[in-house]
Amino acid sequence: MIGAGASGTAAAWAAAEKGLNVITLEKAAFPGGTGAFSEGIFAVESKMQKDWNYGLTKDQAFMMIMNYGHWRGNARMVRAFVDRSADTIDWMQKNGVKFEKLFSNYPNGLYTWHIYEGRGAGWIKLFQEKYKAAGQKLLTETWGEKLIEENGRIVGVEATNKAGDKITIRSKATIIATGGFFANKEMREKYLRFPNADGLAQTGKTGDGIRMAWAVGAGQEGTEVQASYRPGPRGIGTTNHVSATAKQPHLWLTPKGERFCNEQIMLEWPFAGNALERIGGTMYVVYDQATLDHMEKNEGIDLGVGVMVPVGTKLANFEKEWADAVKGGWAFKADTLEELAKVTGMDPKKLEKTVADYNGFCAVRHDAEFAKDPKYLREVKTGPFYAIKSVASTLGTLGGIKANERFEVVTPDEEPIPGLYAAGNDVGGMYGDSYDLLMAGSTVGFAVNSGRIAVDSAVEYMKTLK
Ligand SMILES: Cc1cc2nc3c(=O)[nH]c(=O)nc-3n(C[C@H](O)[C@H](O)[C@H](O)COP(=O)(O)OP(=O)(O)OC[C@H]3O[C@@H](n4cnc5c(N)ncnc54)[C@H](O)[C@@H]3O)c2cc1C
Repeated sequence: MIGAGASGTAAAWAAAEKGLNVITLEKAAFPGGTGAFSEGIFAVESKMQKDWNYGLTKDQAFMMIMNYGHWRGNARMVRAFVDRSADTIDWMQKNGVKFEKLFSNYPNGLYTWHIYEGRGAGWIKLFQEKYKAAGQKLLTETWGEKLIEENGRIVGVEATNKAGDKITIRSKATIIATGGFFANKEMREKYLRFPNADGLAQTGKTGDGIRMAWAVGAGQEGTEVQASYRPGPRGIGTTNHVSATAKQPHLWLTPKGERFCNEQIMLEWPFAGNALERIGGTMYVVYDQATLDHMEKNEGIDLGVGVMVPVGTKLANFEKEWADAVKGGWAFKADTLEELAKVTGMDPKKLEKTVADYNGFCAVRHDAEFAKDPKYLREVKTGPFYAIKSVASTLGTLGGIKANERFEVVTPDEEPIPGLYAAGNDVGGMYGDSYDLLMAGSTVGFAVNSGRIAVDSAVEYMKTLK
């Protein structure tokens, strides 16, 4: 196993459970990867959904995913992922994972997100402990570098550890699970339309697994990005209340002071990331004192920030966190719009006109420009005025290695490379032309299900070896 994040950990434990001898390499000092930050996992037709009277079917989910991506994804792979997903929830529960609730990504979204207790870090730790207790090996601070090929089969991997030791691991089957390539500038610039976005939790994800697979003849598929946006610089946590004021569909402006989208698209934040990328990757989220009072003291926020800052939360930490945000150069306040333009660098005339137009839409409860739902139309009228600088960001890359629905790595013309499998963000085929939030929890869902399916396929393959 190369990588011990969401897909690698799920696959390693699934393999250990089947009685195989497993060696896992993990580049970081501890397992988890980006998977540690995740909140929940996709499934459809799970027992939990049935208990909650939630009736989305596998057929519906499959068709929605494929139509959403304009059938540019791998239909057999998507079907395999959807079909396995409910069984994976049972499997995780059987292995001690506790689920808190079902959730959707946005109001009236699909309730496919099974929120686990203790975030991803919780179940990854649990599975790693079981794996260790079963006598299996995890080598941390050790990274896979090159696949070993003999007679057209993959028979292991060459690795290096922190001390500089060269390690050769021979294996009957090898699963790549290194989590994508966002930390690799060269690959980012070559393969992404979104190379300059700021990556969240992407340390060490330098595309090693993808490059290793390509080097032995694997095809290329995918290379998408999980587009998003983020108020403030890296390191501002999701629970920060100044940041939460900008994770709302208020007035979003270009650095010049013009509106550029229906701000409601932040409900599906990859859309927001896409729109932001188009204008160069930086925007200001603007609101006035009345809207701040609404979020801070009165009704609370209109939209939750993930499951960490739920809808209706009163942003009681705003005052406390404001000074740091100002010091950090991403939060601005001014008594007049003219002054706000000055401190942010927006064009004062453009800002004045944009706000006047917007207030006009608020007054008649119709956004004649971008058709935002009137319930999100809040005037920008009562000073002081606030502007929160936000940038395009990403939760990682998706795709790179071409694989089939058994998660066997394949050549460009779909021939499996014997002994080689891949899972999680390293694999293309799940998403069509743009990452989406339609199916909440789908990337961890894809990671865990692809990991499990890869193990099943590897077991079948090993039976054919003498
Ligand atoms: C803040 C945040 C919240 C998220 N929440 C959700 C959510 O609620 N639901 C959801 O579906 N998705 C969520 N995601 C996305 C999800 O976490 C990822 O899609 C998922 O973790 C991908 O799994 P993976 O195994 O491919 O990669 P990872 O989990 O990142 O694991 C890859 C591992 O490989 C290791 N590695 C890299 N190179 C090598 C090498 N050469 N040798 C050995 N090891 C190597 C890395 O160190 C890492 O540990 C979230 C992401 C972020 C950033």
